[in-house]
Amino acid sequence: VKKTKVVVVGGGFAGLAATMKLAKDERVEVTLVDKNNYHTFQPLLYQVATTGLEPGEVCPTLRAIFREKDNVNVLMGEMEGLEAENSSVVVDGEKLEYDYLMLAIGGRTTYFGNESWRAAVPGLKGLQDALEIRTRFLNALEQAETETDEKRKRELLTVAIVGGGPTGVELAGALAELKNHVLQEQYSGFCLEDIRIVLIEALPRLLPPMPEGLGNYTKETLEEMGVEVILEEPVSELEERRLVTEEREIRAETIVWAAGIEGRPLVQKFCQYTTKKGTVEVLSDLRMPPHPNVFCAGDMVHLKDEDGDPLPGLAPVAQQQGSCVADNILALIEGENTKSFHYFDKGSMAVIGRSRAVANVFSKISLKGPLAWLAWLFVHLLSLLGFRNRAVVLVRWFWSYMGWRHSARVLNPAYLPE
Ligand SMILES: Cc1cc2nc3c(=O)[nH]c(=O)nc-3n(C[C@H](O)[C@H](O)[C@H](O)COP(=O)(O)OP(=O)(O)OC[C@H]3O[C@@H](n4cnc5c(N)ncnc54)[C@H](O)[C@@H]3O)c2cc1C
Repeated sequence: VKKTKVVVVGGGFAGLAATMKLAKDERVEVTLVDKNNYHTFQPLLYQVATTGLEPGEVCPTLRAIFREKDNVNVLMGEMEGLEAENSSVVVDGEKLEYDYLMLAIGGRTTYFGNESWRAAVPGLKGLQDALEIRTRFLNALEQAETETDEKRKRELLTVAIVGGGPTGVELAGALAELKNHVLQEQYSGFCLEDIRIVLIEALPRLLPPMPEGLGNYTKETLEEMGVEVILEEPVSELEERRLVTEEREIRAETIVWAAGIEGRPLVQKFCQYTTKKGTVEVLSDLRMPPHPNVFCAGDMVHLKDEDGDPLPGLAPVAQQQGSCVADNILALIEGENTKSFHYFDKGSMAVIGRSRAVANVFSKISLKGPLAWLAWLFVHLLSLLGFRNRAVVLVRWFWSYMGWRHSARVLNPAYLPE
């Protein structure tokens, strides 16, 4: 019997959820395409950037994930275009035909139209970003050891993070943990107190989508840990090692831009209906108009919930959409109607430091402190792919929690920008 050919582009949360569900149906043959040979567990990238975890622990390879699925082929390649009239997608210059296509290529860091900022300062979206930030920070400490010019030394010891959402908060908290609990007795050319960690947010509070009380708790906790939190100061100028707000100029060797995401430019090439943010306007069943056999899911999609608010760029949204796309493809194969997507909101959380986190469970119940931290640990461990990764990460976290220092501090100059 001829199998239905489904091509899934993007092995992120949405692409994996769809492929896993489709793989259970022997009538379909799935080709999963990704420009990397691995899946990126983005929620823990900040721990790679701050030396807590190694890349392989948050980036399992796609071939390993699907090794037991006979009807899934993994293809490493970059999608460059779509020829929907011929039902084919262009990957590394070659055409790949499909009966159904699912696009789940995620988004990229937004610099709000300031493209020169993109070249100057990394975001935290992929593994390369995490490794660049880690290397830059470690290299700055090495240089500060021997730097005699006080001004340059201050610059080397300053880290500025722009964006007070979960990524910025988690990154700032982890850097403060590194400074307060891991790096002692290792440097003699400067005092650890001289490491300055600054978190800058344009809005009047941290973690804007969460209840205000959780944002305030996060600010107080970060400040207790030694992070300088600056609110209501949008960045107006940004270049390598320098940023400017209305109130101040900050010189920092390590600057990280953590201020949200937008659609990938590729989307404009093949999609007729896009938003200002470059995301795809899909139908309620996640089909991309006007093509009846092309679906989109995850961060690249713009869809509103029942209250008319845009769905957030979160892993559960991507996973649930991926699963919905798989159901709809199987329904079409059966000759049935597709179903509209409905998001089941489990809430959101962010970790600040050891025993301290905030969680907004089901977007209704506010949790903070040790209970939220335990919930965060549990959810993230369970969500990691593969028993080995869960075990290794659990051991590393236990090791760090007990005050034994983490080891992922190898400085690889290959990741330094030229
Ligand atoms: C630092 C960070 C922390 C986060 N923390 C949380 C959190 O704690 N909780 C939470 O719920 N959400 C969190 N998120 C958001 C969450 O990770 C995203 O919503 C989710 O990854 C979206 O899934 P996706 O499948 O749409 O895209 P992605 O996971 O981004 O996957 C897209 C995939 O497409 C591939 N790709 C891109 N372009 C191409 C191309 N042209 N050809 C082939 N392949 C391509 C990429 O390599 C990637 O594998 C975080 C995000 C970041 C960046």
